[in-house]
Amino acid sequence: MNGALNNPVIEIAYIVAVALFVLSLKWLSAPATARRGVLAGEIGMGLAVVATLLYHGIVTYKWIALGLGAGIAIGIPLGLVQMTAVPQRTALSHAFGAFASALVGTAEYYLRAPHITAFVMSALAVEVILGSLTFTASLMAAGKLQEVLPQRPITYTGQNFVNLGILGVAILAAILLVLNPGATWLFPAIIVIPLVFGFLLIIPIGGADMPTVISLLNSYAGLSAAAMGFVLRSKLLIVAGALDGSSGFVLSVIMSKAMNRSFTNVLFGAFGQVQVSAAGDAEAGTVRTATPEDAAAILEAANYVMIVPGYGMAVAQAQHKVREFYDVLTKRGIEVKFAIHPVAGRMPGHMNVLLAEADVPYDKLIEMEDANTEFPQVDVALVIGANDVTNPAARTDKGSPIYGMPILEVEKARTVMVIKRGMSPGFAGIDNKLYYLDKTLMLFGDAKGFVGNIVRELTGSGGH
Ligand code: NAP
Repeated sequence: MNGALNNPVIEIAYIVAVALFVLSLKWLSAPATARRGVLAGEIGMGLAVVATLLYHGIVTYKWIALGLGAGIAIGIPLGLVQMTAVPQRTALSHAFGAFASALVGTAEYYLRAPHITAFVMSALAVEVILGSLTFTASLMAAGKLQEVLPQRPITYTGQNFVNLGILGVAILAAILLVLNPGATWLFPAIIVIPLVFGFLLIIPIGGADMPTVISLLNSYAGLSAAAMGFVLRSKLLIVAGALDGSSGFVLSVIMSKAMNRSFTNVLFGAFGQVQVSAAGDAEAGTVRTATPEDAAAILEAANYVMIVPGYGMAVAQAQHKVREFYDVLTKRGIEVKFAIHPVAGRMPGHMNVLLAEADVPYDKLIEMEDANTEFPQVDVALVIGANDVTNPAARTDKGSPIYGMPILEVEKARTVMVIKRGMSPGFAGIDNKLYYLDKTLMLFGDAKGFVGNIVRELTGSGGH
């Protein structure tokens, strides 16, 4: 890739690609420009790949064609997964990217050793250690999210000590390699130990924290790629890796904040363990249920309705029905808004994307803080497949695993209606006292079917 420095066409293409990556991230940060952001990222990546293929140092294209074919064969089905499976799909992408980075680092080491400067050896060590641990950690994270591995955190005494000790050994091996790059027998240690560490890192983390962990792994994969850029003297890789690393980090910070958790708590807190006592209380309470007819009658009398969407709306693919429901109510002169919790669903922006897909006017979506000041004026808060993000235990129950997480205070509305299929808990696995309040009506059923039935009642029953 060093030859790229002498080829102005490749250099210019790389600069344009870098500019497109920066613009892509900027545009992706607002819903109105997000599509343009995706396109800019795609063009940038296409340009970077084509420019790299023009490099004169390439001896044969045979292996590249094989890799391209394999990538396409895996990439197309991955791109077709349901939106609810995007977090695990993203984890798999990080696993592949990180693995590639570790492999390139390994190849570069054995090609160059022992003639490696301390700087390049340091970059190689960072690349290989981060790449290897991100590979196994991302596979574990994807497995937990896909529920092929147990979601429950597995912990034992001294676990953090053991994990950090193992990582410490890999770092020690890396330092020795920097001091003596010719010690080829040590190199496998900075591959194998981080592979084991990545696996151990995820074992004590519960499924509920996986999306945050994945975005942190995204950051590691980016940093590994940036280190690879220093090894290969590729400015493109340095910039793209740094962008990836920093944006993944910022996203993890946003997600942790929205759940009122710290990084150390996410990584070492074994979230999701203390759930049994809270769920135990559930049996005692009784809930009031209602039919679509009852719900429609209450909605007809309302002036202000706040819809609170959550993961269940995504699973049921109810967003288009919800849009119809919105149209029917607004036609009747009822004010309708959507309260969006930053971690509703399974990835940041999940609800925004679904509602945008159904063409719900964007200015009707309001953020959590604003929604919470509105709820006392709301006649009906209609919760559609959301659970944890409405759980009052986050504010009142110090023993709850979600204590401290900012939530949508739906119980402040005059009436609360909750559409869900049964009394199953949400992602955090805990019961929700909201369902037992006198003002709450449970509307049991699939989100899409139930909203459809309310729409039918509202349109079929005319004005009564
Ligand atoms: P949730 O707490 O996971 O609850 C979703 C509810 O939807 C369930 O209780 C389920 O109850 C119901 N449901 C499932 N399928 C349904 C269907 N077809 N129709 C109707 N209801 C259905 O969801 P949430 O309130 O959106 O909260 C998100 C959770 O994910 C939080 O714990 C959050 O911390 C976590 N998380 C999110 C992110 C993110 O970036 N968004 C990141 C990290 C963690 P039934 O089975 O009874 O129907």
